[in-house]
Amino acid sequence: MSCHVLFSGSDAEWETYERPLRAELKAVDAVIEIGRDYAASDVDYIVIAGGSPIEDFGPFTRAKAILRLWAGVEDIVGNETIRIPIARMVGGGLDQGMVEWVTAHTLRHHIGMDAHIHGQDGVWRNEIVPRHAMDRNVTILGLGALGMACARALAALGFQVSGWSRSPKCEAGIRCLSGPSGLNDALEGADIVILLLPKTPETENTLDAEAMARLAPGAVVLNPGRGALIDDAALLDALECGQVSHATLDTFRTEPLPSDDPYWAHPKVTVTPHIASFTHPGLSAKVIAENVRRGEAGEPFLHLVDRERGY
Ligand code: NAP
Repeated sequence: MSCHVLFSGSDAEWETYERPLRAELKAVDAVIEIGRDYAASDVDYIVIAGGSPIEDFGPFTRAKAILRLWAGVEDIVGNETIRIPIARMVGGGLDQGMVEWVTAHTLRHHIGMDAHIHGQDGVWRNEIVPRHAMDRNVTILGLGALGMACARALAALGFQVSGWSRSPKCEAGIRCLSGPSGLNDALEGADIVILLLPKTPETENTLDAEAMARLAPGAVVLNPGRGALIDDAALLDALECGQVSHATLDTFRTEPLPSDDPYWAHPKVTVTPHIASFTHPGLSAKVIAENVRRGEAGEPFLHLVDRERGY
């Protein structure tokens, strides 16, 4: 009997992912087909990409799982028409891309690259030298698939890395803190704070005025997580008074970031347009195919979303 995988996403997404998904699913079993226009009652798995129009999952009576091509699920996790498991993307190139973005922006601020790129004026100023990584405290809020990969990479470069998560973690070379009581310790004296939490009701405004006051004076904020993790008004105040010296923001409450948003023109803000990390077509197709294989074999799905927790 054939198995139908519905791809729900924009034309551009289909163009990107069709070929690798078809190849990986075929490698699992020749009877697995992927397409965009099956009758809802014939669909066994739903792959959700960007631009998916599905809001009502009720008609997908035979479907066994929703397989998300990205890491974040805040837009579907509360959908009450979903009665089947939701699996999100873990791996699929997302970790490698995020490690590169986070490492690059951390090093930019750590070694003070901007002063040399923008300040080449014929004056030899060698009195200010960069600190060593071992003297720089970096805190990562969120020690999940992406946060932990970044924590390991930064610790390998020699930074003093702290991380904060909901449940306790233990990782060599990383100071792991957890729960509401661990947040203040994680923030206290951080020179660079990196947000890699999911957007949930509990994580909204994690970086508010009180949290920013705990950072080292002149701290740097990097937000590749979600815009809602930051209290924007508090961040603009902290930039104004110098408590935060620079914010590099990849995610925003409204995306695309409106052209009149103060972040665009702010001299202490770098805006990157939600490009920190992308799902790699070939690598992610393997993750999707493995979950379809598991579903067909009656094995547990990988990377399931806990709908109670919201991520
Ligand atoms: P993940 O594996 O689910 O990790 C989330 C981390 O946040 C976990 O360590 C979790 O704690 C922690 N957390 C969640 N709620 C918390 C709370 N209330 N208090 C303390 N810690 C909490 O997610 P991921 O794959 O690393 O991705 C993280 C986020 O990155 C995504 O949700 C998405 O928003 C963002 N992202 C952005 C881009 C981009 O291009 N900008 C790309 C991919 C992903 P536990 O470990 O205890 O569960």
